[in-house]
Amino acid sequence: MFVVMSVNASEAEINAVKSHIIEEGLQPHDSRGEERLLIALVGEVGPRRDVLMSRLSALPGVESVTPISRPFKLTSREFHPADTVVQVGEVAIGDGSIAVMAGPCSVESREQLMETAEAVAEAGASILRGGAFKPRTSPYSFQGLGVEALRYLAEAGEATGLPVVTEVMDPSQVEVVNRYADILQIGTRNMQNYSLLTAVGRIEKPVMLKRGYGATIEEWLMAAEYIVSSGNPNVILCERGIRTFETYTRNTLDLAAIPLLHHLTHLPVVVDPSHATGKRWLVKPMALAGAAAGADGVMVEVHPRPDEALSDGEQSLTLEQFRDLMQTLRPIHEQVRGQGRDPVPAGTALGVGGGRH
Ligand code: PEP
Ligand code: MN
Repeated sequence: MFVVMSVNASEAEINAVKSHIIEEGLQPHDSRGEERLLIALVGEVGPRRDVLMSRLSALPGVESVTPISRPFKLTSREFHPADTVVQVGEVAIGDGSIAVMAGPCSVESREQLMETAEAVAEAGASILRGGAFKPRTSPYSFQGLGVEALRYLAEAGEATGLPVVTEVMDPSQVEVVNRYADILQIGTRNMQNYSLLTAVGRIEKPVMLKRGYGATIEEWLMAAEYIVSSGNPNVILCERGIRTFETYTRNTLDLAAIPLLHHLTHLPVVVDPSHATGKRWLVKPMALAGAAAGADGVMVEVHPRPDEALSDGEQSLTLEQFRDLMQTLRPIHEQVRGQGRDPVPAGTALGVGGGRH
């Protein structure tokens, strides 16, 4: 639930409400609306709900107390109606623009990264990606260059002016990745690694949380809730495909997740057609589809010589293909831009969840 403070509530009244929440063993979390302050109660409310709601309603300065119907609270649009805009240097994600994150699956060498970074920057990418710590299905596959790759990423980011996103796989890596990267990525295999989520929740840099390949949208949002409730509100969601019975594609890109998330949450949503399809020639149509569905960003893997890539070469675009994608992506985004972020008109009854036939 959350408390809506009245427009002219005093500082003392706000503090009294927060103290009451803390005395109940819960945590108050602020959200500043256009006029009013909202205070969410974070923690297990359980059977106290009705009593607590009426006690809080009676406190001076309180306008109303509203239950949040969804299990995710801080990440829900009910609690935070305005879009979250994640700012990374000069790049904004979630402000109506489309952020393009591009770069190799793995950082393989300084030269390979520099060549890719310069080409994607030139073509109009806004963020550089590259894996330093690689979560490979086989322990015998290339595992990434680790800290050496982080140094190359920082150098390439500096040289091109692009902020850098890279994956962190373990709580013990958070400190070093935080030192070099601008956005910390949580990969699909770690979406429910709660100690890692809590660890990135304690830093200030933005976190890009990829969807678990077997996770429902609700489980994904609960994972985001771990990060936000640990203190980091700068979360970007990334739809990267889920595992289905289909085998022609590596995963199945859940395009409906994009507008659905825009209804359920205020967090920005990015789409990754590279890991979703696993096939180079499917990346462009699915990137365009993601933009058409209202994604706030697209993440694609790009390699100067995909046939020589140490990981995910089959799904990596060549530099030329990336330039071509950029030409088509922007006009599509312009077509859908400004159509409103929450696709559900206010007051519409929406049967989210269940719905199996
Ligand atoms: C990646 O983006 O480098 C990656 C490994 O993706 P995912 O976690 O979605 O498989
Ligand atoms: Mn990859």
